[in-house]
Amino acid sequence: MKYLTYTVAGYMLLALIWWAVLLTQNNKALFKAESEAMQLKYNTLYGVENFTLENVPEYHQLVKKHQRKKYMILGEGLVFGIMLISGIWFIQKSLERELDIARKQKNFLLSITHELKSPIASINLILQTLIKRSIPPDKSREMHENALSESTRLENLINNLLFTTKINTEYQYNFEATDISTLASSLVKKYITQHPELNIEHKIEDGITGFVDREAFVSVMMNLMENADKYGEPPKKIQISLQKTDPDTVILKVTDNGPGIPAKEKSRIFEQFYRSGSEETRKTKGTGLGLYIVKKIVQAHRGKIRVLDHSPKGSIFEVSLPIRPI
Ligand code: ADP
Repeated sequence: MKYLTYTVAGYMLLALIWWAVLLTQNNKALFKAESEAMQLKYNTLYGVENFTLENVPEYHQLVKKHQRKKYMILGEGLVFGIMLISGIWFIQKSLERELDIARKQKNFLLSITHELKSPIASINLILQTLIKRSIPPDKSREMHENALSESTRLENLINNLLFTTKINTEYQYNFEATDISTLASSLVKKYITQHPELNIEHKIEDGITGFVDREAFVSVMMNLMENADKYGEPPKKIQISLQKTDPDTVILKVTDNGPGIPAKEKSRIFEQFYRSGSEETRKTKGTGLGLYIVKKIVQAHRGKIRVLDHSPKGSIFEVSLPIRPI
């Protein structure tokens, strides 16, 4: 498709140049014919063989007329060429955008089908095993933990789907006075309980309060913690910090020890449905909605989000939220 557009564009440009050359040549031929006719007229009038036309104002007008025509052909050709190139560029760009959206939606449908089916299938299997067989207590506990982790994953996925629908329609943020420190601590503690295998360090400053949408704030933290867990490399290490940098700003940082994010992908990861790689090749599960939701929420709070490289490896997601103190 891309090459077809380039071929058509190239052909049109060459045709345009060809017409410009032809018109310039015609203009030249016309000038020659008219000046020859003028020469003949003045030769006859003054009875000479070779009258010097340069001394006649009529000849200067003729030269000017043809020069004007020449510039008109070149100018119009140039304007038309620029319009043609920019038109084709815009069409190509929107075509690429449409194809990109279609590809992302296809990937999204593939992943969502898998994402919904696989935790349900695991939970069913675990429950069937627990019912049918007598399992030693420690093994049974492990299976219960696995079932809990799968159902949490399902819950988060459904929350993300619902939140995306809300955000993409008319979500009314409910900014309410919130004890952000307590909310963040309880989310981190809940996550640690649900994922005892993870090494999670946290440093939450006490007493931070402000106006935020509670549900949205929970979604931001959950998505960032889940990504740190999902993309972290064993032995996984996650660091979470929340601190006030000035009376009106709170900074949330979630750091992981994953592969990091290539520079050219750093802005794209916040697009809806964006996931690096393709559904067939990528190893991690996901829908490409998490960071899209996070960015939308942060923007609605007039905040900023950025992703930095963590040394020696990994990423740091840094959210800065302006909070109107209570
Ligand atoms: P999902 O995780 O469901 O694919 P997200 O919107 O949360 O969707 O993330 C979009 C993409 O950004 C992911 O597919 C992944 O490529 C990249 N990404 C997000 N978080 C991280 C992270 N902590 N480390 C490395 N890559 C990440």
